[in-house]
Amino acid sequence: MDATCTKPNLLDLDRPGLAGLLTQLGEKPFRADQLLQWLHARGCDDFAAMTNLSKALRERLAQETEIRVPEVTADQQAADGTRKWLLRLPGGSAIETVYIPEARRGTLCVSSQVGCQLNCSFCQTAQQGFNRNLSTGEILGQMWTASRLLPPHPVREKPITNVVFMGMGEPLLNFDNVVAAIRVLLDDLAYGLSKRRVTVSTAGVVPMIDRLREECPVALAVSLHAPDDALRDELVPLNRRYPIAELLDACRRYVAGDDRRRVTFEYTLLAGVNDHPAQAKALAKLLARVPAKVNLIPYNPVAGLPYETSPPEAVAKFRDEVLRHGLVATVRKTRGDGIDGACGQLAGKVLPRQRRSTHVPVVV
Ligand code: SAH
Repeated sequence: MDATCTKPNLLDLDRPGLAGLLTQLGEKPFRADQLLQWLHARGCDDFAAMTNLSKALRERLAQETEIRVPEVTADQQAADGTRKWLLRLPGGSAIETVYIPEARRGTLCVSSQVGCQLNCSFCQTAQQGFNRNLSTGEILGQMWTASRLLPPHPVREKPITNVVFMGMGEPLLNFDNVVAAIRVLLDDLAYGLSKRRVTVSTAGVVPMIDRLREECPVALAVSLHAPDDALRDELVPLNRRYPIAELLDACRRYVAGDDRRRVTFEYTLLAGVNDHPAQAKALAKLLARVPAKVNLIPYNPVAGLPYETSPPEAVAKFRDEVLRHGLVATVRKTRGDGIDGACGQLAGKVLPRQRRSTHVPVVV
């Protein structure tokens, strides 16, 4: 919670959290069910409208708590329907949230931190440094805001069917708040998403992959980007702490016991760096023993960085080589062109910037 506000933000609380708060107020805990529905299923931020709660309770909630949602300062839409919001946070920082509509699903890409502590060499967010973790309410505030601003889908009504933690930040370095937010995304009385429709994407924080498996085993995506440690040390410096073999062991543990589950491995193709067919073969060999699918991402150039997008022929060749070795591989379509809404282009505004040490963050 930020220092300027003292009232608890109801968006910070999952169902047990709301029940605890209501008990403190002398209410029956089941009122949490009603409150959760008002807040999330109905996107209500006005206590007076919550008419199945007693007037006394509504007044008390209005006095002692808050429904604090991020302020939308920009709302852009690309020709392909991708929509991006800039959300201002207390203190002047800003985060970005992107909605990507497809024929059969609508995906919301949410941020988990203001900036990022990792220093992946090709990523825009890394250029901005790190400010702080987002609170649960700020993570959910992105879902709350997008659900309210998007028009209903003509068929399924709910525009958002999937949530991916692929915006700014490393979700597994903000574990508690991310997991609390996921609990609300999964709660039938809130957003009711199924576990396989919520994806946490990580650069590879190995101990936290195990904790996620124990506490909240949603879909897992891992940003691999290289088939060997020497190259991955360079592109994803976190690899120096958790090298590929350890990471893949954690991935195997993550999906163990369920034959249908796979880990998605993201691989951003950088021309002349990691896009050679020999590297595709090495990647396929590496992943042969992990239930995996590979998601190839054409690089979205970042101003000031020395990397270039692989030409389409190189992308196709790389994909074919991976497929030839029996792995499932798809090429992610670039979405949100023109509004900088694509992977790694989310910049937001990171203020005030914290000094980032040259060491990778220590994770216990
Ligand atoms: N920190 C998490 C969440 C970020 S997800 C993670 O690393 O998984 C964003 C994805 O886009 C990651 O796979 C990231 O490596 C990739 N990415 C970053 N910059 C990119 C760029 N400029 N073009 C394409 N993909 C990029």
